[in-house]
Amino acid sequence: MLDPFGIVFHPFPALVNHSCQPNCIVRFDLNGLAERLVPRYGSISIQSLRDIPQNEEITISYIDASFPFAQRQTQLRDRYYFTCNCSLCAQKEETVNDRLESKSVAGQPPVSPVGDNTQTAELQAQAERTFYDVQSKPGIETTQIPHLRSALQSLASTSIWPVHRYPFPQLRQQLALALLERQDFSGALVHFAILYRIVDPLYHAVTFHPVRMSHAWTFWNITFYCASEQQDERERYMLAMLSFHVVDELFKDMQKHNFHQGEMERMVVRAYEGVREGNPLWQSYERSKDKNSELALAWLDARIRQTLESERVSTS
Ligand SMILES: [Zn+2]
Repeated sequence: MLDPFGIVFHPFPALVNHSCQPNCIVRFDLNGLAERLVPRYGSISIQSLRDIPQNEEITISYIDASFPFAQRQTQLRDRYYFTCNCSLCAQKEETVNDRLESKSVAGQPPVSPVGDNTQTAELQAQAERTFYDVQSKPGIETTQIPHLRSALQSLASTSIWPVHRYPFPQLRQQLALALLERQDFSGALVHFAILYRIVDPLYHAVTFHPVRMSHAWTFWNITFYCASEQQDERERYMLAMLSFHVVDELFKDMQKHNFHQGEMERMVVRAYEGVREGNPLWQSYERSKDKNSELALAWLDARIRQTLESERVSTS
């Protein structure tokens, strides 16, 4: 899932072709060699997502590649005037981006599944309209919370719509952003957690993928803030351990995989050093990192399960 940032024209990256399963990604926050010449955010870079064998073509995705096959094809035809024949599109509707499930939520009787494709397509179209409608009205997201919740509910009520399938995560992210806008940090936390724990790992295999990193970064900020505001001692402890785990993982990933001097990395380093030096609970975390991370993630996953069960979402 990509977050829309803007449009840039540049003759060199324009030479790179598209794939819905790309081996590279574009970044706008790396200064590199041009640091002294170009102001921050004034550069464009192509970063590899894995080792690329000699003679393999360099590719990036022009669109949000987590969209289902039909949506990807439509967007690429409408905006870039070509039919995509990449390795993901060769599998048509047989990938995780497209598949609908039939498993019901544990402990809940199965809701009658949407039987025919026309109904499913209509539901998707309705949810999609809500998503684009909300996206087209920046600044008034908080007033859209009931629409977003009802669009999420209508997808969930089919019992066949997995939590990661378009437009479920897109609507969920809009809802989380609207809750943040309303300063409901604790409400937003669980929705970002669903993106962080379930959705992102399915679409981006590598943990240092910039989309995963930027979602993890937002999630870290929310957990850190919620930990500082929480009154209940156990909840506060869990939130603190969770926030340490998230920033620690971000920092470790950056060190393991090509440490770039991007704005993202700078923010992570500042946050990591800040909690290490300034937070009295950090020492408890460090004494038993694995156990604390495991506990905090189990606590988080229980909250995720509870939320999805209350939404009656298929969790298969
Ligand atoms: Zn494709």
